[in-house]
Amino acid sequence: MKNNKTGLKIKQSDEELSDVYEELLAAEEELREQYKELQKSEELLRKSEERYKLAIDGANDVIWEWDIEHNKLFVSDKWTSITGYEINNNTSIKFILDNLIDPDDKNAVIHDLREYFTEKTPYYSSEFRIRTKAGKYRWIFNRGKVRRNNEGRPIIMSGSMSDITERKKSQEMVRHLAYYDSLTNLPNRAFFMDKLNNAIKESKNMNKRCAVIFIDLDDFKRINDTLGHSYGDELLKIIGVLLRICAKDPESVARTGGDEFSVILNNVSDANEVSCYCEKIVNLFKIPLEIWEKHIYSSASIAAAVFPDDGDDADSILKNVDVAMHKVKESGKNKYIFYNNSMRDELLRRAEIDRALRDALAGNEFNIYYQPQVDVKTGRIRGFEALLRWKSKTLGFVSPSEFIGVAEETGLIIPIGEQVLRRVCWQNKVWRGKGYSYDILAINVSPVQMRSQNFSNTVKEIINKTQTKRDTIEFEITESVLMEYTDYNLKLINELKDAGIKFALDDFGTEYSSLNYLKLLPISTLKIDKSFVDQLKNSIVERAINSNIINLAHSLNLSVVAEGVEEGEQVEILKDMNCDEIQGFYYSKPLPAAEAEKLLSAQKTFSI
Ligand code: C2E
Ligand code: CA
Ligand code: CA
Repeated sequence: MKNNKTGLKIKQSDEELSDVYEELLAAEEELREQYKELQKSEELLRKSEERYKLAIDGANDVIWEWDIEHNKLFVSDKWTSITGYEINNNTSIKFILDNLIDPDDKNAVIHDLREYFTEKTPYYSSEFRIRTKAGKYRWIFNRGKVRRNNEGRPIIMSGSMSDITERKKSQEMVRHLAYYDSLTNLPNRAFFMDKLNNAIKESKNMNKRCAVIFIDLDDFKRINDTLGHSYGDELLKIIGVLLRICAKDPESVARTGGDEFSVILNNVSDANEVSCYCEKIVNLFKIPLEIWEKHIYSSASIAAAVFPDDGDDADSILKNVDVAMHKVKESGKNKYIFYNNSMRDELLRRAEIDRALRDALAGNEFNIYYQPQVDVKTGRIRGFEALLRWKSKTLGFVSPSEFIGVAEETGLIIPIGEQVLRRVCWQNKVWRGKGYSYDILAINVSPVQMRSQNFSNTVKEIINKTQTKRDTIEFEITESVLMEYTDYNLKLINELKDAGIKFALDDFGTEYSSLNYLKLLPISTLKIDKSFVDQLKNSIVERAINSNIINLAHSLNLSVVAEGVEEGEQVEILKDMNCDEIQGFYYSKPLPAAEAEKLLSAQKTFSI
């Protein structure tokens, strides 16, 4: 039994053993599996660590971690290549704040951090300049996130820092292109508008005044045309520099058009300050500018308006400076004018005239008056100047000095001038038909008419239709005709001269009075302006000038007509000077055709 028992026992323990053995085997197998797994994840970890390191090393950015509790800063190697500084004990937040970050940006950086720590912003990010070890500035974009402990206190912050210098440079370039004029490097119109809106906002808030000044070159086109564009460009550049020198704030000077500059004067105390500045600019132009060894004279028209006196927003201020500019240009250029409310009234009147003029042609509201020109030596009528008269149904009588300018601006002078030409040529035909003898009928021709495409053909067509005797029509033109489109106009004048038209230079003495033009133009008559004639009595100088002009005109085979002669004394002086003809109230006012005809039919010879 015992053996049996023992034998059984043995048998049992054998079985147990083999079970245990099996279990052991299984456990070993499991361990081996686990080991393999472990090895695998170790391998993965190693790989991901390697990748992570590679990423940090290879990144363009500096990867950083700031242990806030112990105030330690870790930065990746890239730090050295951006800043030039080695990574060592000095690499700390304090060192960076005190030595690297541009002092101008420091407060903003601290502010950005504080906003994030107090959870006012969801992410930390900041843009600032750092000064590298080599002393150069670089733009940095820094961003990061914080880890907090259980109590919510920040313990670790990590993030990355990118060098955005190139991006900033190209942004700056784009900004420069969009906001600066490439020729003069001054702010352009868009930038000027921004600045003006800001200036007005600030003036409003602080209860102050600011002024806007336009500076428009008077003769830029002439400089471009006569000397070439490179001189024109250089002139603009120099003027830009000079305007900056004169300005309280050089950044307030902008180039807002081809030959137009604008300046904002901030914090203006009174009108006097603005006039002083304008005066300075006028004086700038008094001395010639030297460009490539040439002395160039130019002048500018200057207009100013003040906020809030002349308008309470940018639009109305700009509109009113424009109104004032209009006024300067109209009243002889080369000076400055402040906007005032009467200018607006004038502008409204011009608009009214413009409206009424549109009905005038169709409504037959025009009439032509004739003012005789009298030969000084014989008293005979040499001819008449045709002068337009307009009695508007809505505005009553309007003087040509008022409406011709408006008609020129709108182009209406072209059909109006054509009608004058037609009517005067018909009148000529009628008077010639009746056998009256006179030399010419003079017609005023505006530069705007001459610029119109069909002008020459229209003139020829009218002359043919009315069988106007050759050499009986004299066109009165002013020097301004030669200021623009010089070559074109000279060709046109010569062409019309060949078709039988005579030319007189009108208003001599009011514009450039350049004797060169006299030689250049194929004219036969010179008309001395009333303003000269007016001074004959009192000024010896004026007398000498007039006398010289007459002599010179005679040497060029021109006959001279003095205009606006009102007194016998003037007639005597002009006669002494050998002036050829006289036109003025002294002999006769402009007359309706019927009355002018009476003079002709009576063969009136004025007593001299
Ligand atoms: P303008 O060509 O210089 O004409 C002479 C102006 O002087 C005329 O003024 C005439 O009436 C005025 N006048 C003549 N003698 C005297 C005088 O002794 N004393 C004074 N104080 N004035 C005198 P008006 O008719 O008012 O014409 C003004 C301007 O309008 C003209 O100046 C001319 O530039 C323009 N104009 C007149 N008719 C026409 C026209 O048919 N076409 C064009 N384009 N312009 C015209
Ligand atoms: Ca005239
Ligand atoms: Ca005249």
